Amino acid sequence: MYAKYWDEKLETMSREQIRDMQLKLLKETLHLASSQSPYYRKSFDEHSISAQDLRRLDDISKFPFINKVTLRQRQEETPPFGDLVCVPEEKMVYLSASSGSTGVPTASPFTCGDFDDWQDYEARLFWSSGMRPTDRYCHALNFTLFVGGPDVIGAQKLGALCIWAGTIPSERLLTIFQQWGITVTWTTPSYAWYLGETALSMGIDPAKDLNIKKIFVAGEPGGSIPETRQRIEELWGADLYDYYGLSDIFGACAGMCEARDGLHWAEDHILVEVIDPDTGEELPEGERGELVLTSLKKSARPLIRFRTGDIVSYTTERCDCGRTHLRLHGIHGRLDDMLIIRGVNVFPSDIEVVARKNSNLTGEFRLVVTEEKHLAVLTVEVEHSAGCKVDLKTLEDQVVSSCYNTVGIRPKVRILPPDTLPRATHKAKRVVDERAK
Ligand SMILES: [Zn+2]
Repeated sequence: MYAKYWDEKLETMSREQIRDMQLKLLKETLHLASSQSPYYRKSFDEHSISAQDLRRLDDISKFPFINKVTLRQRQEETPPFGDLVCVPEEKMVYLSASSGSTGVPTASPFTCGDFDDWQDYEARLFWSSGMRPTDRYCHALNFTLFVGGPDVIGAQKLGALCIWAGTIPSERLLTIFQQWGITVTWTTPSYAWYLGETALSMGIDPAKDLNIKKIFVAGEPGGSIPETRQRIEELWGADLYDYYGLSDIFGACAGMCEARDGLHWAEDHILVEVIDPDTGEELPEGERGELVLTSLKKSARPLIRFRTGDIVSYTTERCDCGRTHLRLHGIHGRLDDMLIIRGVNVFPSDIEVVARKNSNLTGEFRLVVTEEKHLAVLTVEVEHSAGCKVDLKTLEDQVVSSCYNTVGIRPKVRILPPDTLPRATHKAKRVVDERAK
């Protein structure tokens, strides 16, 4: 009765079949956008392009990009929802909102059909990660405006027993895990770590005393970093599944299947491009670039060539699970988080690899950027572990050479005592920029 979340014909199509299907859906989306949205009509006119100009899938590269700023500006200039909207208000049934840096919530509207598609999409991702009707799932994400809240409905659709916990104190959450034998939960990598440490401080060993088998994580790059995954998995005695979410399309948009070798998309809903962030040119498979997404079925507010600001790479090789839909090799970082140190691009996730793989470190880390003689100087702060087996000078040298091997620069390193750096309960703040603005 739940087999509809594993559609073998759809999920194992050849690349050619996927592209044919996407071309058909993209034509429909472009037609909807240019006929119903004043913004898209004007933007296409300004770029001398029309929906009819899409003959092959690659023709998408002729269409203009949009980004978060576009969404915010259109909402401000054409209130209340912005003129990218393609349906009358009576067709809309749900709005999620993301606040962004300005604090002004940007609306993401859904029709009833969009909402159902979204929850089917989540159910499909959860199924691919091995969630089954026999699982007890505790959804511990924020429900206020945030698009991650309703993702729980996807888990219910596939038949899991769901508990809508929301964001409650860690001690209460752990009590729920213990009392009802929760098998699956979803959080950020930082919080999974924090929650595991909190459990230990309460005398609960997460690996032995709790029944958690799977932890889904999103919101930070750590879920695809092997060193981070391994440490969290050992702490919990559970398997970690990395997810990628984008509030402006769906909640979770890509997730790890049971082979856990990259994050699958459902390409019948979303068209994925990876571009050079400087030139806007499409990059080949395997190269790191900015993730650009186009919704293929959303009707309330289709997004066409939405620049996410996330740096990723992808593969279209058939996965061991049999699925052929495109996989990301994880999220390497956000353009906003990227530091340029003496001409070298450094992502906090690169340093995370260094911090997590040395067993003489606790795994916590922070990057402090200062300026000397107009040059950026990077200081990596890490903590030595309680049972550190080498002297601090040796440890410092290890971290410097490990950074050099990973990113090609030798930063300053500050070794701190355990529990010195602030612990995150949601997304960790890993970069402190002390340069004059
Ligand atoms: Zn797979």
